[in-house]
Amino acid sequence: MNMTHPFRDADGDKLREECGIFGVIGAKDAANIAAAGLHSLQHRGQEAVGITSFSGSEFHSHRGLGHVAQVFRQKELDTLPGTMASGHVRYSTTGGSGLRNVQPLFADLASGGFSIAHNGNISNAMTLKRDLVSKGSIFQSTSDTEVIIHLVATSRYPTILDKFIDALRMVEGAYSLICMTSEGMIACRDPLGIRPLVMGRLGDATVFASETVALDVIGAEFTRAVEPGELVQVDHKGTISSHRPFGNPDPRPCIFEHVYFSRPDSVMDGRSVYQVRKQIGVELAKEALADADIVIPVPDSGLPAAIGYAQESGIPFELGIIRSHYVGRTFIQPGDAARNADVKRKHNANRAIVEGKRIVLIDDSIVRGTTSKKIVEMMRDAGAAEVHMRIASPPTEHSCFYGVDTPERSKLLAARMDTEAMATFIEADSLAFVSIDGLYRAVGEEKRKGKCPQFCDACFSGEYPTKLTDFSERETTQRNAA
Ligand code: SF4
Repeated sequence: MNMTHPFRDADGDKLREECGIFGVIGAKDAANIAAAGLHSLQHRGQEAVGITSFSGSEFHSHRGLGHVAQVFRQKELDTLPGTMASGHVRYSTTGGSGLRNVQPLFADLASGGFSIAHNGNISNAMTLKRDLVSKGSIFQSTSDTEVIIHLVATSRYPTILDKFIDALRMVEGAYSLICMTSEGMIACRDPLGIRPLVMGRLGDATVFASETVALDVIGAEFTRAVEPGELVQVDHKGTISSHRPFGNPDPRPCIFEHVYFSRPDSVMDGRSVYQVRKQIGVELAKEALADADIVIPVPDSGLPAAIGYAQESGIPFELGIIRSHYVGRTFIQPGDAARNADVKRKHNANRAIVEGKRIVLIDDSIVRGTTSKKIVEMMRDAGAAEVHMRIASPPTEHSCFYGVDTPERSKLLAARMDTEAMATFIEADSLAFVSIDGLYRAVGEEKRKGKCPQFCDACFSGEYPTKLTDFSERETTQRNAA
């Protein structure tokens, strides 16, 4: 993660997950398996990828900008021998950081080689970095993850596990980590389990991944989630030990993983992502039924919720928008004009279905509102009689500081306007969002527990589950200004 990212203009109209991580220990051709696993996590990060392997005496690494299949052909994988490998896909190589920030990061410590792959964001990294630099640490990247390496390097504890735990006690925020030393692999989740991490078995090998889909794709069997606050250590003989140095705080996994980030064929916290998304559509239909002729998903993210909405409401489901799969994602186009043109190249109205109809459009979220506005306009141009927009998440009013790239708060449409004003802005006949309790019902909870919510939902509620040492001052200023 780039330390400046939470306040950087994301230049797009979707929240985007910043990273996916994968690790395997005890397998022949570990790097090949890592590449296959990362390929299935490509939706979590499409700008850069890296794999580090360990061949028994040496660490080997290859990193590059681009997709997994572009960066890792067989010739690159052949340079990564060994039975242990970990990898990382990511966004946010902007800011001139280039390859320096591409993970896994690696350092030769006094205790030996140490590699780390991180999904999340450390919310006191700048404060820790200032302190480390004042004591003589020299940083190679602008990544918050490197702070952990320096904390491990300077820890006075004797074993690598104790050094690692010592380091993690000092960091706040969100982290799922896969680390490698010559002794083996350590995978862990922050005490609240904000970002996901699961483990599985592939023959005698142990596998860790951000999502279960990566286990499916390589033919591994899902064992269990790495629990919030748990460190799982695996040595080269396959011995697995579990450590819980942070007690048992109530977990707060990211609820947006269910709404948008994860692949629908993953299982997250024991729940099928696809089923949850469909159920959000059911809740949305119960809460905000529109008098309409057809239900249309904004592809692909609105699809499962639109199926649920159609089934619950009895309004027929139709593919009224066809998506081209051969266009770069909307957010990578700089500037409003390019972004607007890109929306049209990416989505096209299916006029034969839309013309003369009152339609309900279902999408997963509204961030800036620019994409929604264009899609509503496209539906009207195709002859829609009425356009009712329904959103499968509550209004996104706050920035995320836990590893999700959000525009600064002043750019979030819901932070600036109420629902009625947003409907006017996107020029829809009506607009409604699923309620926060509706979202909690969809993930299988009776309702949101007010004092101790079961999930992180800070981008909707503004209730951040950790301290935000580096950001609190700026966020407070933003809030007051909003
Ligand atoms: S703030 Fe939103 S996107 Fe970020 S971790 Fe919390 S729920 Fe997920």
